[in-house]
Amino acid sequence: MLSSLAKNKVSRRDFMKACAAMAVYLGLSESFAPKIADAVENASKKAPVIWLEAQDCAGCSEAFLNLTEPTPTQIILDTISLKYHETIMFGSGYVADKALDEAMKTPGYVLVVEGSIPTADPLFCTAGTMSDTNPARRPVVETLKEAYKNAAVVIALGSCASWGGVVQATPSKGRGVSDIVGKEKVINLPMCPCNPDHLVGTLVYYLTFKKAPPLDIHQRPLMFFGTLIHDNCPRRGHFERGEFVTNYGDPSQAEYCLYLKGCKGPFTFSDCPSRGFNDNVNWCIKSNAPCAGCSQPEFYAGFSPLYEKSNDVNLPGIGGVPSETVGTVAAAVTALGVAAHLVGRSVFGKKKEGDK
Ligand code: SF4
Ligand code: SF4
Repeated sequence: MLSSLAKNKVSRRDFMKACAAMAVYLGLSESFAPKIADAVENASKKAPVIWLEAQDCAGCSEAFLNLTEPTPTQIILDTISLKYHETIMFGSGYVADKALDEAMKTPGYVLVVEGSIPTADPLFCTAGTMSDTNPARRPVVETLKEAYKNAAVVIALGSCASWGGVVQATPSKGRGVSDIVGKEKVINLPMCPCNPDHLVGTLVYYLTFKKAPPLDIHQRPLMFFGTLIHDNCPRRGHFERGEFVTNYGDPSQAEYCLYLKGCKGPFTFSDCPSRGFNDNVNWCIKSNAPCAGCSQPEFYAGFSPLYEKSNDVNLPGIGGVPSETVGTVAAAVTALGVAAHLVGRSVFGKKKEGDK
C-alpha cells in the first residue's frame, strides 16, 4: 500500500504520515516512520514476500510476531519486502486486493501460505473480490493457484498449510498447499503453530543459497526435522526406566515420561527438545504436556485421541497392566523399567528421518 502511495505521486508529507500510521500498526512508536519510509523506498532490493492466509487461526503469524531475535520488525523492514499479509498489512479492501495483484505480477517472490485450503467447496474460504469489476468473493484456492505461478519458492507454514492440520477433519476438508499445487516448489514448515525460528532459518537459507535446504520425505527441512523428539527428550531416561506419569497430581511423577498420557514423541520428528519456543523458554514436554505430534502429517486426526497412549506400540510388561497402576506400584517399577528399556531399544531405537 505504501509503495502504491509512492508510485501514485502522493506528497512526501502524506507518505510520511502513512509511514507513521504503519509504525503504529506494527506496534512501534511513530519515530520508526523514517525507517519504514526507507524500507518502502528500498523495497525493490529486498526479497519480495507474499503471505497468504487461508483457513487459519493466524497462530503462525502470531508466533512469528512474537519473535525476539531477530525481531519481526528487523525481518519485515531490513530483510524482506513484505508485499501482502492480511493480518498485519496497513491497507484493506480494494487497496489490499490491488497490492496483491500487483505483487503477483513480478516473478521471483517467496510465497508463504498459512492455513489449509478447503477442498469441499472453494467458498469455504474467500478473501477479497474477483476483480475491480466483479465483486464476487475470491476463493483462496484460486489466489493460491495464481500466486503459485510466479513464486520462486513456496513455504507452507504450520501444520494446516502443510497437510490440513486440525482443519483436515472439518466439513471444509482442508488440505495442504502441496495437495493443491503439487510438491515441486513447496517447503513444509509444519507445527501448530510453526516455530518462527524455522521460518527465519528457512528464509535465511533460501536468500543465501537461492534454493531450498535439504528436505525429508515430507518436504520438511532436515536441519529442523531430522531427529526424533523421543531421542532427545530430557525424560527419555524415565522412559527407559519405566517411570511413567499416570497421575498429574502426584508430585513424585512430576518429571516422568508422558508416554502413557499420549505422548507422540516416539513418532514425531522435530527439534523441539533443543530449540523450544520463545527463546527456548518452554515447549510442550517441558511444561508437562505430552507431545501431540504436531510436526507430523498424521496430526491431528491420525493421532487422535491425543491424550491416550498410542496403540501403535505395545509395551510388553506394561500392556497387561492398567496404566493407572503403572508407576504407582513401586515393586513393579523395576521390572517395567527393564521391559521398557528393552522395548525402547528394539521398537523405537535411535531413529533418523532416513530410517522411516
Ligand atoms: S514418550 Fe514422550 S515424554 Fe516419554 S521420553 Fe519419549 S518423547 Fe519424552
Ligand atoms: S513437542 Fe510435539 S506437539 Fe509440541 S510443538 Fe513439538 S512437535 Fe508439536
